[in-house]
Amino acid sequence: MAKKVVVTRQIKDEHLNQLKEKYEVFMWDSAGDPMPKKRFLEEMEDADAALTMLSEKVDAEVFEAAKELKVVSNLAVGFDNIDLEAAEKNDVIIANTPDVLTETTAELAFTLMLTSARRIIEANRELESGDWTGWSPYHMAGTDVYGKTVGIFGMGAIGAAFARRLKGFDCRVIYHNRSESKYAADLDAKLVSFDELLEQSDFVLCAAPLTEETKYKFDQEAFGKMQDHAHFINIGRGAHVVETDLKKAVETGDIAAAALDVYDGEPISKDHPFIGMDNMTLLPHIGSASVATRDDMVQLCVDNITHVLEGKAPLTQVK
Ligand code: NAP
Repeated sequence: MAKKVVVTRQIKDEHLNQLKEKYEVFMWDSAGDPMPKKRFLEEMEDADAALTMLSEKVDAEVFEAAKELKVVSNLAVGFDNIDLEAAEKNDVIIANTPDVLTETTAELAFTLMLTSARRIIEANRELESGDWTGWSPYHMAGTDVYGKTVGIFGMGAIGAAFARRLKGFDCRVIYHNRSESKYAADLDAKLVSFDELLEQSDFVLCAAPLTEETKYKFDQEAFGKMQDHAHFINIGRGAHVVETDLKKAVETGDIAAAALDVYDGEPISKDHPFIGMDNMTLLPHIGSASVATRDDMVQLCVDNITHVLEGKAPLTQVK
């Protein structure tokens, strides 16, 4: 009997057909909507492999239902949607998509930083609403990135790619990791404590994975330690941040502005408290969303599945 692969979102035929040539494939292709948990559980019962997104909670219930499951191939570098302990207990390999999305995500982080610094969203809103009355010396005056101190929380692949771009802006780069980053020496970046990162940075980028240790790391206390002219940028995960504390920090001037790609509970609606705030740059989780990178991510997911189902190690296994 052919092995079964569950694909939880629509992928291109060129990728899907590689799976169909070898396996029985179920693909959830309802336009844009995530697969309901009940249906996911049903399809997983006899699945040998799953190509999942960060919108699927792959928890103990899934691993217990999926008796034939050998590999979960997650279309993301982050894997906080997967219960790794339950995966190990059930002998299921977890694979992710590191590296192929690094430069694209760093570019988005850089875009967020420049957009926030130069008040691009606010300026565009003013123009589109017909409120632009003309040039004046300090009209929509923002802040420079050039020559500033930039602090990176999580100097891994993406943090380092972001730091490399900062070189062109003559910035001083500091970072906070649990250990010395292998990228730091080439980038002339200095390891500092979390408090030093907050206190010294003009821009703070969160690019760490979401773990028990990093969850809600950016709270009232952390924002209170940042400089009042500082900008906070988050491309990590929404749950790195206590959102009510961030809103308050921006409103009261504890920090100058925030630029976010991710939220604690996605998608957010137009009623979310951040919506409409002038000093908030908000994007709908598009960090790795370039067509070429998404193609590479899907291909890597397919390769990881075929490797495991053919008895080989996946190309990129989550440790
Ligand atoms: P990576 O290469 O594994 O880097 C992660 C870095 O975080 C490492 O340098 C690690 O250093 C540090 N870190 C881990 N735990 C930490 C802690 N408790 N305190 C301080 N630093 C810690 O991962 P990556 O490829 O750069 O991706 C990073 C994250 O970005 C992903 O996990 C994902 O959540 C997010 N991401 C978001 C998007 C998006 O669309 N917005 C796209 C891609 C990735 P130590 O081990 O030394 O602490």
